[in-house]
Amino acid sequence: MRVTVLSGGVGGARFTRGLLALLRERLPDGSGGTTAQVTVVANTGDDMWLHGVRVCPDLDTLMYTLGGSVHEQQGWGRRDESTRVADDLAAYGLGGEWFTLGDLDLATHLARTALLRSGLPLSEVTQRLCARWSPGVRLLPMSDDEVETHVVTDGGTLHFEEWWVRHRAAVPARAFVQVGVADAAPAPGVLEALASADVVVVPPSNPVVSVGTILGVPGIREAVRATPAPVVGVSPVIAGAPVRGMADACLTAIGVATDAAAVARHLGLRADGGVLDAWLVDDADAHAVAPLRAAGWRAAAAPTLMTDVAATARMAAAALDLVGVAP
Ligand code: GDP
Ligand code: CA
Repeated sequence: MRVTVLSGGVGGARFTRGLLALLRERLPDGSGGTTAQVTVVANTGDDMWLHGVRVCPDLDTLMYTLGGSVHEQQGWGRRDESTRVADDLAAYGLGGEWFTLGDLDLATHLARTALLRSGLPLSEVTQRLCARWSPGVRLLPMSDDEVETHVVTDGGTLHFEEWWVRHRAAVPARAFVQVGVADAAPAPGVLEALASADVVVVPPSNPVVSVGTILGVPGIREAVRATPAPVVGVSPVIAGAPVRGMADACLTAIGVATDAAAVARHLGLRADGGVLDAWLVDDADAHAVAPLRAAGWRAAAAPTLMTDVAATARMAAAALDLVGVAP
């Protein structure tokens, strides 16, 4: 069974960890793995150059979460992390202190940058880094080309990470611009993973700056629309609020209500030109199911709080059930 997931960082990584637990239970390979093949296509619009190193926040969150070394409470970065290098670096007054560069995390950025400098594309570099972590999935960047999400504000344009991390999304965003996206190509394997999937899943990732950015790479939206596999999404919004993070600020900027059904309509039904066939909402939004069904969606409600791996695995099962894919 082949599953392809379009993922941002924390929301997508936690979902995928639950999905893998489900597949290991239902399709065990006898050695603790699964006979299913999961491909994760990750957003790289949050990537940036900082102090000469390439930082890929969503790829790293996926790699650390699925590789078992993530800082669990934080949801990103390494556990048992320290910041001796960043603290000392700050003494040089170069700026950029708003972005946490942990010592262990920095080793990843150094390794990545060295491999990129040797001429390897990001997709191959990611494969090399993943060899250490064995994430149990094929992890692909959405593109080997640099694409950076910038945020247009009244005071000027900021890199997405600066707007998100430094300003906590408190400066109103007027628009998001994916610099470089028009000339970007899907990374090798991305279109094939969509075309040959048995099911495509849009996890509860940020619909604007994670999923929206991936779909903005020329060819990817078309491949999602064209795949013979069913496409099912899980709402990142529960009872009118993002579960964590500031997705409401992103949705507001593009004129979409922070509401589970509104996010579904924004991503759209494939029959109407969108990218989804089915939408799983939280039990708290069960009232959204009937109107979505009346509009042609396959929709259901289930507990969608990813409180632990077992609960997340049940949520992944509910998503696959919705499109009749039983692992
Ligand atoms: P980021 O790149 O680290 O921001 O992560 P993603 O884009 O993958 O996911 C962020 C989204 O995950 C946010 O909009 C949250 O609302 C959503 N999210 C986080 N935890 C949960 C959860 O437990 N359940 C659901 N349904 N959504 C969640
Ligand atoms: Ca992200």
